[in-house]
Amino acid sequence: MTVGVWVLGDQLWPEQAALQTCAPPTPVIFIESHEWVRQRRYHAQKLVLVWSAMRHFAAELEAAGWQVTYAIAPTFAAPLQDWINTHQIREVRVMEPSDRPFRALLQQLQLPCRLTLVPNNHFLWSTAAFQEWAQNRKTLVLEYFYRAGRQRYNLLMENRKPVGDRWNYDSENRQPPKSGLKPPPPLEFAPTAITQAVIDTVAAGNFATYGQVQPFRWGVTRAQAQQALAHFLAHRLPQFGPYQDAMVAEHDTLWHSLLSPYLNLGLLQPMEVIEAAIAAYKEHHLPLNSVEGFIRQILGWREYMYGLYHFLPEDYGQSNYFQHQHPLPAFFWDSRQPIAMTCLRLVLTQVERSGYAHHIQRLMILANFALIAGFQPQAVKEWFHAVFIDAYDWVMQTNVLGMGLFADGGILASKPYAASANYIQRMSNYCQGCAYDPKQRFGDRACPFNVFYWNFLDRQRHRLQANGRMGLVLRNLDKLTTSERHALARQAEQWHHQHA
Ligand code: FAD
Ligand code: SF4
Repeated sequence: MTVGVWVLGDQLWPEQAALQTCAPPTPVIFIESHEWVRQRRYHAQKLVLVWSAMRHFAAELEAAGWQVTYAIAPTFAAPLQDWINTHQIREVRVMEPSDRPFRALLQQLQLPCRLTLVPNNHFLWSTAAFQEWAQNRKTLVLEYFYRAGRQRYNLLMENRKPVGDRWNYDSENRQPPKSGLKPPPPLEFAPTAITQAVIDTVAAGNFATYGQVQPFRWGVTRAQAQQALAHFLAHRLPQFGPYQDAMVAEHDTLWHSLLSPYLNLGLLQPMEVIEAAIAAYKEHHLPLNSVEGFIRQILGWREYMYGLYHFLPEDYGQSNYFQHQHPLPAFFWDSRQPIAMTCLRLVLTQVERSGYAHHIQRLMILANFALIAGFQPQAVKEWFHAVFIDAYDWVMQTNVLGMGLFADGGILASKPYAASANYIQRMSNYCQGCAYDPKQRFGDRACPFNVFYWNFLDRQRHRLQANGRMGLVLRNLDKLTTSERHALARQAEQWHHQHA
């Protein structure tokens, strides 16, 4: 019986589960479907990254003796049918997609042969293992999942205890930025000929995209992703911890790894990244707070978000706990429009330029503003999906709806990540020279983060007061007079009106 393997665009690893069940010269197909990418906007560089990485990986498999078909077509169905007929394939094997919408698409395809889904091996915790951990728990907080991961894989453990006798170094990893910080630049790659061809296709404008297609500096092969990892370990990991939460106008990425696009495509695997970080820690005596802080992101947050996505009900994506309904202002889609708020302008122009923002820029600038201003959560999720180079459904739902917007009412966050300008002024240098004053709450120069923060607490008090962790801020809210609260509501409404 002839078996064929269909490799999806985020499954670009020679040891991925479906390829592992076969050997060269088994027929393999890759498909770039133009209708699929027309369903939503994508960052222009995301299209380039995914298609170029697919084309490079297809060439690598071909060189290794697989019979590779690379199709560029409107839909998936037609090239699949042709390929099945040409090779007389009786069984198509696909590694289980990470995203639910793609699983649904597979179920709708009416192939003239058997379709076998092979369990996904791109994550450490299978969906079944996560389910076993999560079911019957009163709380699904990250910390317990992360500790379970450290024990399960025996990582940074000594005599069954965490190395350094602490699980968590967060308190050392929240330093505000000092002036004169000089992070080493991340490793960048010049476009290959294959990449340049994709850039030309995307630049021709046949797809509705977001952001700039060039300069494109991302790696597109496993070898380049491994170089990016080695560069990060040597130059950026030692200082990753202390300034993990800081934001600096002159340095978009600080000491962050920029590895998410590679991990999410399968060009890097989570365990190899974690093991390489531990090896660097041992060999070069790196600071434990930086190494643990980094491993927590991958072994903890990344696995947790994937596990939760498949554990939570499918209608999670529709959550809207606060019943927020405001549309996103147009400047989110085009930063050439005037944006007086310096922090938003800097982060939005950075995302247009590169498809990247680091975690605190995403959480405490973009999502925080969307939360307190009351933008409709599904529109916000759609925006995040459209503009980031590393966006996929599995990582978007819980990060944007759960962590960023608290739209799930607190399944994964114990309280909303809502903050006023005070946080941004402390953790960044964005406020210097801004048209708004981060200290003011009322009047023309009042920072919109302050107006919206206090107005959010006031509007949502009936929901927030049940949360014990909100007690202190709600007591501060009580210090405002009724006329002050009304003034904030008017200012918030005016802002929405001006940006409608
Ligand atoms: P580093 O700070 O260097 O962290 C190392 C790695 O840890 C990352 O590469 C990533 O693989 C992993 N990681 C850390 N935090 C998370 C997390 N919360 N969820 C999943 N993985 C995590 N991550 C994406 O991969 N794609 C997204 O579309 C995405 N959207 C986000 C939207 C919001 C509102 C928030 C709050 C977070 C989002 N994240 C997303 C998580 C995180 O912000 C990014 O993974 C990280 O910023 C990527 O940059 P980096 O590789 O330099 O990360
Ligand atoms: Fe952002 Fe407000 Fe600071 Fe301006 S003053 S940069 S709007 S937080």
